[in-house]
Amino acid sequence: MNSSAHNVSSATNNIEELFRKYVIPSYARFDITLTHGEGAYVWDATGKRYIDLGGGIAVTALGHGHPEIADTIAGQARKLVHTSNLYYHEWQGKIAQQLVNHVGPGKVFFCNTGAEANEGLFKLARKFGHDEGRFEIITAENSFHGRTLAAISATGQDKVKKGFEPMVQGFKHVPYNDLDAVRKALSPSTIAILIEGVQGEGGIIAASADYLIGLRKLCDEKKLLLMMDAVQCGNFRTGRFQSFQRILETTPAAQSFLPDAISMGKSLAGGLPMGAFWVRQPYADLLSAGTHGTTLGGNPLVCAAALKTMEIIERDKLDQNARELGNYFNTELLRLRDKFPKIIKAVRGLGLMIGLELQEDISSFKASDKTASIQFVNRLHEAGILAIPSGKQVIRLLPPLNLKASEAQEAMRMIESVVTRIAS
Ligand SMILES: *Cc1c(COP(=O)(O)O)cnc(C)c1O
Repeated sequence: MNSSAHNVSSATNNIEELFRKYVIPSYARFDITLTHGEGAYVWDATGKRYIDLGGGIAVTALGHGHPEIADTIAGQARKLVHTSNLYYHEWQGKIAQQLVNHVGPGKVFFCNTGAEANEGLFKLARKFGHDEGRFEIITAENSFHGRTLAAISATGQDKVKKGFEPMVQGFKHVPYNDLDAVRKALSPSTIAILIEGVQGEGGIIAASADYLIGLRKLCDEKKLLLMMDAVQCGNFRTGRFQSFQRILETTPAAQSFLPDAISMGKSLAGGLPMGAFWVRQPYADLLSAGTHGTTLGGNPLVCAAALKTMEIIERDKLDQNARELGNYFNTELLRLRDKFPKIIKAVRGLGLMIGLELQEDISSFKASDKTASIQFVNRLHEAGILAIPSGKQVIRLLPPLNLKASEAQEAMRMIESVVTRIAS
């Protein structure tokens, strides 16, 4: 080993050592230390370059080090970073207006994370049903709504709840995309239904148009709130601002469908921490002064970054790009599935939210007890791609919306060589 390579690896060891000593070990991290990025590429401490198809879990919608986002953040940081919500500032109202324009008549609350946005929806639903004694929220199996106590209670996956019981009461889970299951789960206490438009952690599964339309009708009949968690599938990732707009665009409901509330987060501010929830009229004033709040929410810095992120996505037609590259990946991955049916079981997705489901008995993976998704992602890492495992069998691709066609092609060649090697 030459001395510079040696310095790099001891620097990496020092970084990892600090984590081991001082950071609570609640994450199973990959053995990669990232140092910097540019566009769709990111580099690790050994100098190795990766195409980042994970986007930090659907967060870096404009890639890394976007010059306009960097300038916006730096300029805003010099002017005004934080005010608290005791005062007005220019940027929060403007980004709220943008979000309302993209969804429908209503108002927006700003917070800092997706889980916190969902907390807001739970409180909205409780407030809505309070005087009638209704409080129960129906959510979907295999959903994911975040890691706070109420959000793990809402999440339809036992693994996030384990060890933290008792759960917050008032959540019931039903199979996704099954309208009858929702009907059967209704009780006199039911106040709301919360679903993801496309289940992300659950393995990239989109709601069907019939399901969305049926839920809307059911909620109207029973006076329930229809709430959608768009933390991962929102923000233009599917090719439209909201996934339901994409799912319903060729149906008669395209113009008329609206949920009653939507939680947002992840890429909303181009990489800075921002959550938000939109509430439809006439429910937008339910959370009146003093009923809800967060100190850092909607500060000038994140609002300016979010405004710039939306401006760039629209100016550069990145929703269209997400749609086109999504189609490209879908076509190419399906071709790969046909070529390697013993490795790839299914390909799913909408826009640049893509799931690759692996077969359950891949012989090259038998030597290790790690899940197929982790083993596949490790091999992608070796080849120079970052991607996100989702459960035991699914790999998620959540690349930046400004990925170039040439980068998508480069990534597909690498994925194909990884799959070819696993098959041989
Ligand atoms: C990531 C995610 C959340 C939680 O967001 P955090 O910012 O991690 O709190 C909630 N819902 C969905 C659908 C998500 O993908």
